[in-house]
Amino acid sequence: MSEDVAILGLGTMGAGMATNLLKAGYSLSVYNRTSAKAQALIGAGARFASTPAEAAKDASVIISMLADDAASREVWLGKEGALAAARKGAILIESSTVSPAWVAEFAKLAEQHGTDLLDAPVTGSRMQAEAGELSFLVGGKDTALAAATPVLKAMSKEIVHLGPVGSGARMKLINNFLCGVQVASLAEGLTWIERSGLDRDKALSILKAGAPGSPLLAAISTRMVSQTYTVNFLLKLMTKDLLYAQNEASQCNVDLKTAEVARGLFENAIEQGLGDKDMASVIEPLRNK
Ligand code: NAP
Repeated sequence: MSEDVAILGLGTMGAGMATNLLKAGYSLSVYNRTSAKAQALIGAGARFASTPAEAAKDASVIISMLADDAASREVWLGKEGALAAARKGAILIESSTVSPAWVAEFAKLAEQHGTDLLDAPVTGSRMQAEAGELSFLVGGKDTALAAATPVLKAMSKEIVHLGPVGSGARMKLINNFLCGVQVASLAEGLTWIERSGLDRDKALSILKAGAPGSPLLAAISTRMVSQTYTVNFLLKLMTKDLLYAQNEASQCNVDLKTAEVARGLFENAIEQGLGDKDMASVIEPLRNK
């Protein structure tokens, strides 16, 4: 594979995605604000770029996997940003969970520059990123997606084209709205179980096997019980997703009241110093009350 690919952002998700691009044989440039996070990838054959522009300049596909709108704006449009350096005809892929409003603005700028933007946020977490088993939720032109598909396949088990640019970002926020509310309600439910005198293991087995059971409930309840908060999904990022979801739903005159309450629980956890822990730690302030 001789195609040049760039990846901007080597956090929990970006590092696993980059590893799979290298395994698939792509010639890979990587950029991360904190350069130390690139060491393992450099050892595996990636080229480190000290700016987003340097990473992007020769790539036919440029992927970003960053925290939020502000980080995406900074890396694409900031000083020595990737967009100004991108080749005409390059495909830009925004895989971070960002707002559809930012995607719309970015898509216009990308078009003016002679490039196509796909918004392609992912479902799956650290383990799926490492295993190359993410699902991409894609918005954008058919032609751009067709050109980018081999690159996306190297990191995923599924690629779903949802419609025009912005569709992937919208779908992702709906997905994470449901996840955030479920994690918050699990935190309350589990605290209740622990204080109720019920056998915790039996109670959780019933919930996991019954109607409320979901892969998320299974994974998060295990972390809450063992109080293992090594990061799979940063608590502060769920707070951001719920806020973006509320803003986006309000465009359709839908008031996400459950997101508002769930976000309150996550913000309370951030105030108690848990923002950089896994989102499962949202239970701790409830346990300590
Ligand atoms: P992460 O570990 O926090 O990584 C965030 C990345 O953004 C890092 O590379 C960080 O650089 C960079 N960044 C943050 N602010 C920046 C700024 N102002 N300028 C430049 N770079 C900046 O997050 P993650 O878990 O990989 O998630 C990445 C995206 O995927 C997020 O939008 C998240 O919501 C979404 N997502 C995450 C998961 C998950 O399970 N983790 C699943 C699906 C989707 P530094 O290293 O220098 O801080």
